[in-house]
Amino acid sequence: MKHIVPMILVLMLIAGCAAPGTDNGQADKAPLVPVSRAADSPAEGAIFAMDTYMEFRIYGDEALLGEAVDIIGGMEAALSVTYEKSEIYAVNRDGFGTVSDTTAALISRALTLCGRTDGALDISVYPIVRAWGFTTGDYRVPPDEELAALLENVDYTRVSLTENTVTLADGMMIDLGSVAKGAASGAVVDYLRSQGVTSALLNLGGNVHTLGTKPDGSLWHIAVKDPVGAGNLCVLDIADKAVITSGGYERFFEEDGVTYWHIIDPATGTPARNGLISVTVVGEDGLLCDALSTSLFVMGPERAAQLWRESDDFEAVFVMEDGSVAITEGLEGSFRLLDAYENADYEVIRRG
Ligand code: AMP
Ligand code: MG
Repeated sequence: MKHIVPMILVLMLIAGCAAPGTDNGQADKAPLVPVSRAADSPAEGAIFAMDTYMEFRIYGDEALLGEAVDIIGGMEAALSVTYEKSEIYAVNRDGFGTVSDTTAALISRALTLCGRTDGALDISVYPIVRAWGFTTGDYRVPPDEELAALLENVDYTRVSLTENTVTLADGMMIDLGSVAKGAASGAVVDYLRSQGVTSALLNLGGNVHTLGTKPDGSLWHIAVKDPVGAGNLCVLDIADKAVITSGGYERFFEEDGVTYWHIIDPATGTPARNGLISVTVVGEDGLLCDALSTSLFVMGPERAAQLWRESDDFEAVFVMEDGSVAITEGLEGSFRLLDAYENADYEVIRRG
């Protein structure tokens, strides 16, 4: 899929312009305008990839933008479930396949996180996601018997990875959509760091990954979208971290007055409805944050808080279906509610 890169580079002439107040421009909806680049200003660009509008701001050489786009394009070409030349497409079609080192490492990490979340994350839930129409947009509510039959083949423990060879049990298919964007931003951050960059901001459709601090040494102010209204939920002051959100509002359809969204509870084969409408995970590791935002959403607030208590590698912001908000204690001091939530109370989840 290398051939997409030149076109993408053309698109990159559209440069991202952050709104005042937050660094990812989410506080108000400023239109994108071309920015001419002074010698000490960042290299900025935008692309559409992985079904998402992505913006990059890199304090470093302009050529790094092209490298970032190559990394994302390469991952998308390898991981897409619908692109017929992707590595994952071949594995799903044939039931087995040899994948690249990067894809093997990603599957390995994803499987570890399926285990850590007790199967709330399950990369083999894909046939169910497809049956609901979330891959194609042909939404439907599958009958119970169909879901029951598909559920027979949902079990990440039956995905085998030996070196670079993936083997699936009969009838099984996998999808890394729950971790791909976090893995992609993490890979770009790792690359930029290896090139000596000390300041960058990547926004992959609202999932933000920061490298270092702002060039003046101050923290980035990252806005998180209100899962219900048009404004923002909160702002987080961070450095060197990813801020990744999963929510029922991101992809959904309605039928007979019921809302069905794209995050599936692998225990039931139906959209996860365990009390949450959005989960934001903050941590150093993009793939981990992406995996956990999806799976904590599935787990619901109590199980999610329990997993956080047993962990030391992430913090989280939870929004419940009743609109109440909770944060884990590591975010105290770097978190401020915004807009409709500005005067609301929030719970702080503690370890002790
Ligand atoms: P995210 O936007 O990161 O929360 O990922 C959601 C996407 O992951 C969905 O569009 C599905 O393709 C897939 N997915 C849905 N539910 C699960 C699940 N329980 N485990 C793994 N992947 C899932
Ligand atoms: Mg995710």
